Amino acid sequence: MVNAWYEALVHVFYPSLCYGCNNELIQGDQFICMQCQTELARTQFEIIRNNPVEKLFWGRADIQFAASTFYYIDKTPLQQIIHQIKYRQEKELGIHMGEIMGIHGSALIHAFNIDLCIPMPLHPKKEYKRGYNQASLLCEGKYKQTGIPYNEKALVRNENTRTQTKKSRIERWENVASVFDVDEPIIIKDKHIMLVDDVVTTGASTEACVNVLMQHGAKTVGIYSLAFTL
Ligand SMILES: [Zn+2]
Repeated sequence: MVNAWYEALVHVFYPSLCYGCNNELIQGDQFICMQCQTELARTQFEIIRNNPVEKLFWGRADIQFAASTFYYIDKTPLQQIIHQIKYRQEKELGIHMGEIMGIHGSALIHAFNIDLCIPMPLHPKKEYKRGYNQASLLCEGKYKQTGIPYNEKALVRNENTRTQTKKSRIERWENVASVFDVDEPIIIKDKHIMLVDDVVTTGASTEACVNVLMQHGAKTVGIYSLAFTL
């Protein structure tokens, strides 16, 4: 009772704001208001085979599945939400979005017997500067929702990403492909892995990670991202 009173009082003086639109949240809403929730564009790709994310990887990587929870569309609440997670230290929001991924992604987890989630590694300098990897936050939320463990040390990203712009397409591909590695293959051996990312765009890094995981003994690898850019 006291807690409820206290919460109501705190809410009056420090109203929580929606991360999608900055409007005041009504009590009971967490992180995102009802209006913004309805504006998040669901893909339903979790239950659609040969969906556009899977097609992106055709002929490039040996994947079991690929899907995204939402479409990434400019100037929508999701763009705001991802911005807050990546650049505004909103870690709890990242975990919350991971829980939403867990709800929608449970169909994939069951269909493909996923036993381990691995976040896409950030460039070490970027992670040091940011203090966290946003894909790990998504994995943490997914773990809270589904109980599927995650390991952020399974995939490593080396420092030496030289500048990409002056290279040919082949050189760029070779450059990206050599960036990722697996230090301890025992972690991934014979595992059905879900590789987790915030936004899939060209898929170049994702492709490299899938290939490295398969080369080091993963049984299957699938891709699941919070958002997909059309
Ligand atoms: Zn809102």
